[in-house]
Order: sequence, then structure tokens, then C-alpha cells
Amino acid sequence: SRRTLVVGNWKMHGSHAANEQLLEALKAAGPLPADAAVCVPFPYLAQAAERLARTAFAWGAQDCSQHEQGAYTGEVSAPMLADFGCRYVIVGHSERRALHAESDQLVADKAKAALAKGITPIVCVGETLAQREAGETEAVVKRQLSAVIHTLAHCAGEMVVAYEPVWAIGTGRTASPEQAQQVHALLRAQLAAATPRAAQMQILYGGSVKPDNAVELFAKADIDGGLIGGASLKAADFLAICRAA
Ligand code: 13P
Repeated sequence: SRRTLVVGNWKMHGSHAANEQLLEALKAAGPLPADAAVCVPFPYLAQAAERLARTAFAWGAQDCSQHEQGAYTGEVSAPMLADFGCRYVIVGHSERRALHAESDQLVADKAKAALAKGITPIVCVGETLAQREAGETEAVVKRQLSAVIHTLAHCAGEMVVAYEPVWAIGTGRTASPEQAQQVHALLRAQLAAATPRAAQMQILYGGSVKPDNAVELFAKADIDGGLIGGASLKAADFLAICRAA
């Protein structure tokens, strides 16, 4: 049995003062039934590391470069994230795929760069509404995941996968637990063909997860937790989701 994992993705939200309140509330939470983490904007990594050390929460970033170092103005490398104690890094979020034209291969290269520094990549996959309506969901998520599996080869068992249907992100329109489970089962089968560790791998669901839908989502056989956007900015909501495990 897999432990549930709940990860907050703050996206481009927060300020030093607002984070202080949120992090203090998380710190005060005590033991949790799930693994938990927050992925914060780069400038706040030091703040998260300082506040969350020796708590139930790990921390991480929302992206990293595929390169280890060099003339890449504005980029942040996996070794830098390791320097700040990051346990996780999100790669291939749909917002980056859409707004920064990240390809499946680039996402795979970023996951590889993270793993090389001992950071667990949280690899996001998911279809748009148009793709779902065209019956392409399975083909899309398979294509996205296969680039990562091929690039990581035997290390594919060391990552976390997040299924985030684009139409459910920030829309208040959650995939039903059955819709999500169906895709999670496909992803697990695809992983099983590539790594003996597939049964132990955490596959998260993301897209409008809230305290009132987390329990039934997390109860599904192949849904091992959540990647939480909006609700991770409110301590009470985020903690309630962590406790829905
Ligand atoms: P929301 O929870 O705000 O829908 O965002 C989901 C998401 O994109 C997490 O990465």
C-alpha cells in the first residue's frame, strides 16, 4: 500500500508576509496521515525551508531547468533546488506546457535533471477539454508519460505522476472520482510495463480538489493523493485535504 501524498502548488501567489502566516499554520499542524509538501515560487524557497524544517511538510519548486548550469539567464537548476533542500519539483505543469510551449521531451529532460540531484519530479500530464471531447484523453496522457518513461529508463520508478485534466484546473469543475480513476488505472498500467516499481508509485490527481471532494477522490484504488492549487493557499483547506488521506 502506497502512502497518500498531498502537494500544494502555490503557483505565482504569495508574499513574504502572507507566506509567513500560511507556513506557520502548516507548522502548527502536527503529525499527518499523509505525506505532504508545498511547491513554492523560487524566491520563497529559503523561507519555506526555514519554516518547514522538522515539520510534517516537505517543500519543493514548480519547475527547473534541464541544464545543470551555464548561460541560461533567468533559469533555475536542479542543483540549486537541492541546495535549498527541495524534496520535489513539479515538471510539465499544463500552464508551462501551454504558456511556455514545453514539449514532452523537454519535460522529460527536466525530470531527468531533477532525479540526477536526488529530487523527486512530479510529472504532470492531462488532456484539454477539446481533447477529451474528441476522445483523445488516453492517447494524450500516454504520449506525455511515454516521453518521460523512455528518457528516465530504469529511474522511472523514482518519480511521482500527477494527472491534471486541463479543464478541471482552476475551474471548480473536478473530474469525477470515476473519471479520474479510469485515467489513473491507464497510467499505472503504462508504468507497470516500464518499471517493477509501478505498484509503489504515487499517482496524484489535480484539478479543483477541495476539502469536500478529496475524500472520495483519494478513496479510489489508483488515486494516491492530490496536487492542489487554489485550496493550498488557505491553511485550513489545505490541512483538511492532507487529513482526507
Ligand atoms: P486548482 O486546484 O486551483 O484547480 O489547480 C490545480 C493545479 O493546477 C495544481 O497543480
